[in-house]
Amino acid sequence: MSPTDEIPAAAPLRDKLRKLGLERRLDLVLHLPLRYDDETKLTPLAGAPVGQPLQIEVLIVEISLKPAPRRQLLVTVVEAVNGGVPIDQRDSLVLRFLSFHGSQLRILELARDQGRRLRVFGEIREGFFGLEMVHPRYRVIDESCEQLPVALTPVYPTTAGLSQTALRRLIGRARSETDLSEILDAGWCAAHALPSLADALAVLHAPPPSVDTEVLNQRAHPAWRRVKFDELLAQQLSLRRAYLARRRQAAPRLALLNDLTDRLKATLPFVLTAAQHRVVHEIALDLAQAYPMQRLLQGDVGSGKTIVAALAACQAIAAGYQVAFMAPTEILAEQHYLKLRSWLTPLDVEVVWLSGRQRQSAKRLSKQQTASSAQLIVGTHALIQDKLDFARLGLAIVDEQHRFGVMQRLELRRKGGNPHQLMMSATPIPRTLAMSYYADLDVSTIDELPPGRTPVRTRLFAEHRRAEVIDRLRQSVARGRQAYWVCPLIEESPKLELQAALDTYAILSGELPELRIGLVHGRLKSADKAATMAAFVAGEIDLLVATTVIEVGVDVANASLMVIEHAERFGLAQLHQLRGRVGRGVEASVCVLLYQPPLSEAARARLKVIFQHHDGFEIARQDLQLRGPGEFVGSRQSGVPLLRYADLNADGDLVELAQQLAGQLLCDDPDRATRHLQRWLGRREELLRA
Ligand code: ADP
Ligand code: MG
Repeated sequence: MSPTDEIPAAAPLRDKLRKLGLERRLDLVLHLPLRYDDETKLTPLAGAPVGQPLQIEVLIVEISLKPAPRRQLLVTVVEAVNGGVPIDQRDSLVLRFLSFHGSQLRILELARDQGRRLRVFGEIREGFFGLEMVHPRYRVIDESCEQLPVALTPVYPTTAGLSQTALRRLIGRARSETDLSEILDAGWCAAHALPSLADALAVLHAPPPSVDTEVLNQRAHPAWRRVKFDELLAQQLSLRRAYLARRRQAAPRLALLNDLTDRLKATLPFVLTAAQHRVVHEIALDLAQAYPMQRLLQGDVGSGKTIVAALAACQAIAAGYQVAFMAPTEILAEQHYLKLRSWLTPLDVEVVWLSGRQRQSAKRLSKQQTASSAQLIVGTHALIQDKLDFARLGLAIVDEQHRFGVMQRLELRRKGGNPHQLMMSATPIPRTLAMSYYADLDVSTIDELPPGRTPVRTRLFAEHRRAEVIDRLRQSVARGRQAYWVCPLIEESPKLELQAALDTYAILSGELPELRIGLVHGRLKSADKAATMAAFVAGEIDLLVATTVIEVGVDVANASLMVIEHAERFGLAQLHQLRGRVGRGVEASVCVLLYQPPLSEAARARLKVIFQHHDGFEIARQDLQLRGPGEFVGSRQSGVPLLRYADLNADGDLVELAQQLAGQLLCDDPDRATRHLQRWLGRREELLRA
């Protein structure tokens, strides 16, 4: 039976299965239980625990139909084992059904009249009228099914109109018809305490009586580990293969040594840190290859990624190619534009600004230049979204790449042939996550900050001490420093968030009449935004009131105080990014987190982490622990991982193992790798080849 074998089913059933992502017989076999119910034993009704799934065997003593206020069916039952004689009130139980069919009612009535037993599975709870079970699973016992099952009962993820019983039957049939011959080396599996796939699946679909329900439900059983490993291996293989495939494509070789790079270095008012030197070199070597670079430049906030990118740009420009430089927000893109222009125009590089918000005429001109003479094009993702022709794109640089979706990353790859790609991110992600999300990239890391920075001191203030904060702000500005005031984040409503920013601006203007105060928020026209930012950079504004538009990348060295209002609403990564906006000069900086008590447990934990830690990687690690990986990389990234069972946080050791074996298989036994991929990903792998 081949892995592409489709499930033979009529159209309505096929549609339901497709909703579950099940197309092949094999998909059914790899469709694994959410949890297990223990139907192997009966619990005596007397003293049965409340709030736990359990199975009882009962006789029906009464059936009543309640027409109002809500039609429902109430079935009073008593313990069956002692002949149905209720010992006391406590031993009777009401089964309550809010929706039911007439046929169901008739079957129950028949069972009552014939005195037949009912086997019921559910959770007892304290109802309004005593103990009850709402919508339990039940079955009238006849001769043929008197025996209790010997194995735990798997409960599968399903969809409306597809019962567990039907799904179980389909899976059972598919299992008997599917070839599960082992793909991995048996000795290797044994050495890593992993059972064969066939054995693992047998345990997971039909656990033997000896298996502990808890261990299975926690997914800690070796059978689960094998499945998770296989899945991670498929992910590694497919990302790695996509990486290798792109390596076989052609890209322009950009000569390593060039005058432009040297001239830019010579004009800088600082010397590169050792870490910057190292990554500049890694990137430069990559650009000189005949295949497209696919590199991620990781570095904490303020580590100086922009200059590294600019040096890479010089290498491409010197070789006669164009460079596209994209940032996720207008403000950030504009800052980059201004900075790059100030660095490169004196060196006679033609730098062009392109944004979705530009006036038509300006935009048309920028596009024309992009199609002809422009050497560096800076902008937002208008660069990939618009119909835009590059004359000869050699390098694409994407700042804060985690803000862009995977699809946009792929899109860029298709733009202008096969440009070299440099992605930058200040969101450090823990190793096991990185291995998974960035397995298709080479990674360079800047692991040191430029010298002379004084660490930012973080202070926590409850809202009622706001007056003290305002005082501090006044003093700081009196000493010639600048400050940010970050307005509350209101995720559920951009409109309310804007209003909050306007209110804050008005209040602060009233409280601090002697200060020059500016306001930036996402709804501002880009020219106004740019003007305000430029005034802040030039020191003509003392206090910049802002929404989170300043979260990424903004760089004003003289700003040494940041106040974040309602800090408890922000995520850890955001707080770290925001705080990174200060502490960029030699002046000691302070970040004040104003919070509104009482704090939720989660908010308290976050504020504690941000108070105690400054290192982005450590904060990311703690963030992962607090939140789990699902949310971590953001929903926009979630198209790629292809993981249903493995948990990148809990199964870190398996990720490493999978990465090792993936490398080995692709090298030594590509056919085996292909078979594994087909088994686990089927069509889904195409997503990655795009
Ligand atoms: P990020 O990595 O967060 O993008 P930036 O590239 O914005 O950081 O750099 C932060 C600030 O540090 C900028 O003002 C930049 O000019 C400055 N900078 C970068 N490299 C160095 C260095 N080696 N020495 C001193 N200052 C530097
Ligand atoms: Mg930056």
